[in-house]
Amino acid sequence: MQQKTSEKVVVRIPPSPTGFFHIGRARMALFNYLFAKKHGGEIVFRLEDTDKERSKKEFEEDIIESLKWLGISYDQGPFRQSERGEIYKKYIQKMLDNGTAYVSHETEGENKEVIRFKNPNKTVTFSDEIRGEISFDTTELKDFVVARNIDDPLYHLTVVIDDHESGITHVIRGEDHISNTPRQILLQEAIGANRPVYAHLPMILAPDRSKMSARHGAVSVREYRAMGYLPHAFNNYLALLGWNPGTEQEIFTMEELIEQFDLKKIQKGGAIFDQKKLDWVNKEHIKLLPEAEQKKLLLKSIENEPYMTGEPELDVEKICWRYINQGETIRHLEKVKELLKEEWTIYKREIMAYSEQEGRGNVLWPVRYALTGAEASPDPFIMLEFLGKEKSLKRIEKAIMALKNAK
Ligand code: GLU
Repeated sequence: MQQKTSEKVVVRIPPSPTGFFHIGRARMALFNYLFAKKHGGEIVFRLEDTDKERSKKEFEEDIIESLKWLGISYDQGPFRQSERGEIYKKYIQKMLDNGTAYVSHETEGENKEVIRFKNPNKTVTFSDEIRGEISFDTTELKDFVVARNIDDPLYHLTVVIDDHESGITHVIRGEDHISNTPRQILLQEAIGANRPVYAHLPMILAPDRSKMSARHGAVSVREYRAMGYLPHAFNNYLALLGWNPGTEQEIFTMEELIEQFDLKKIQKGGAIFDQKKLDWVNKEHIKLLPEAEQKKLLLKSIENEPYMTGEPELDVEKICWRYINQGETIRHLEKVKELLKEEWTIYKREIMAYSEQEGRGNVLWPVRYALTGAEASPDPFIMLEFLGKEKSLKRIEKAIMALKNAK
């Protein structure tokens, strides 16, 4: 039975703690979040840890941390399937009693007994918000196993029971779960649960269109976090993996994403993960921040550069703009040194004026290089600010000396 959308929306974020929280699961979480917020709904967070071998506390913590970093909040949970044995037991007993499941005496394999679902062998048809109508003949699933025993339910059953108990109205998840859906629908019918609305998200692909994996670069949220991406820029980029509002807009605040998000605008085909695009989205978000925030981020991004901790090694050749005019360069550096000494509080204006007159590259390149010894670094004014007067003067003096000695 399809639920009416006038009902309160309840979605779920149900990652399995079997690995670090990866971009696929993060996008799933985000889409659920956006959809719930847009419809004034609720979000249930549960950890699907029925696989005792592969589920780890470390991964659980990583998931919780990553959701927090992304700013994806939830209204209920975290629930752990490993703590809900009593609930599952009640349902299994009910299924055994009403004949939708039975204890099967196995002739093959290690388990002598398992609990199997009594498959009605019918065609299940469901309507996916993204992929349209999907029909599946469930006969081929046979009487599939739903629990090892009454205390040990398997994954499909726990998902269905949890969704039912939480009153889930919409299941938004990766396309890799599409083949699980007919099985789960049969189980819903067996326990008398409503059928949620389904939306299966397209796969995230690497640039070569193969399935995204660690061999293509970073796949976990923690890695992107360590690389210094802004959490909201990361969300913005994730949102574009398979969705767009049908306009030219690509940079969104969280409020705009919520406002414009629409399951009907999600594409069917795979979404290519493009780190260059992510970099661009991140830059655009940095530009939107107040100047002080931008500086803080910039400082953080260069805090491990050698020139932030000690005096830079200078390559005399490189001090001069385009490697020429040593004499001129000495003159410019001397001038900047004087300006800094005298006019530290307004150096930017003074140095800018001087470099307009002498040629920007001629003046600003040697200053920046003297300060950092690096060909790529933030602009000289930012570096002057970060290093402070004393260090800056010392470094400029050192560059002057190096040039003089080389002459
Ligand atoms: N636990 C599954 C996962 O992490 C999600 C299951 C579902 O959405 O039904 O991929």
